[in-house]
Amino acid sequence: MSENCNHDCSSCGENCSSRDPKSFLKKPHAMSDIKRVIAVVSGKGGVGKSMTSAMLASASQNKGYVTALMDADITGPSIPKMFGIHSRAMGSEAGILPVLSKDGIQVMSMNVLLEKEDEPVVWRGSLISGTVLQFWTDVIWQGVDYMFIDMPPGTGDVPLTIFQSIPLDGIIIVTTPQDLVGMIVKKAVNMAAMMNVPILGIVENMSYIECPDCGRKISVFGESKVDAIALENGISNVVKVPIDRSLTTAADEGKLEEIKNNYLSSFFDKIDEQLKSVKK
Ligand code: ADP
Repeated sequence: MSENCNHDCSSCGENCSSRDPKSFLKKPHAMSDIKRVIAVVSGKGGVGKSMTSAMLASASQNKGYVTALMDADITGPSIPKMFGIHSRAMGSEAGILPVLSKDGIQVMSMNVLLEKEDEPVVWRGSLISGTVLQFWTDVIWQGVDYMFIDMPPGTGDVPLTIFQSIPLDGIIIVTTPQDLVGMIVKKAVNMAAMMNVPILGIVENMSYIECPDCGRKISVFGESKVDAIALENGISNVVKVPIDRSLTTAADEGKLEEIKNNYLSSFFDKIDEQLKSVKK
């Protein structure tokens, strides 16, 4: 406990041991209505975190849920491109409105706020986390059943601020087989435990390729260890997504919602079941 403790966590910025982690939580915009929030995390960039977030949002929308996708990867935003979104967000005095994808997913990203979408964002961490928090506090998210947050990679300052400030219902970990899976999963598990947030599942992306002639699954990066690691950490929902060129093409052409194989549909169904059983 701090020497200057006044026993009022809401007016204190210190991260002391007796602080309730929930006391950092920020309220969403007064006109927002968001039922469930799921963060998609990874140990490093390039493993398919944005692809996973986009496929999950699409699976949720296809199931009939009002879905939102917050692109919190401020310095590497890729969500709008995957959905073919090139328009800018509109705002009024009341707040900022998310941009809608073709299927109606509510999307907010740095790229829909920039004058030019190829402009680099060269900002320090505090400014980046401040912007992500504004995506939560200043954007009007309407009637959302599921919001997915495409988090910045790693366990640094920005992801930590998001973890502390946005009330998450769970997190999903994305890894690849050559990633240091065990260590990355352990770090995410520890971070989630610190924040008292459940892990809803692990996506092993780029897990294998399927031979186009015989259909055999080839583990390009060696045999997967994800099942054993998931078991070790008490996580039962695991899915393996292959390297599939049609996914890259769809993402590059802004047609992610049109993919025939959404490898995450039944993975999302299990999460949906799991969260439905948790009373809010
Ligand atoms: P991250 O968000 O972790 O940085 P991305 O989701 O942007 O990673 O993916 C990195 C690149 O890999 C993108 O070009 C994406 O289209 C491609 N990609 C991701 N997952 C797959 C997959 N399963 N099969 C083929 N390409 C993929």
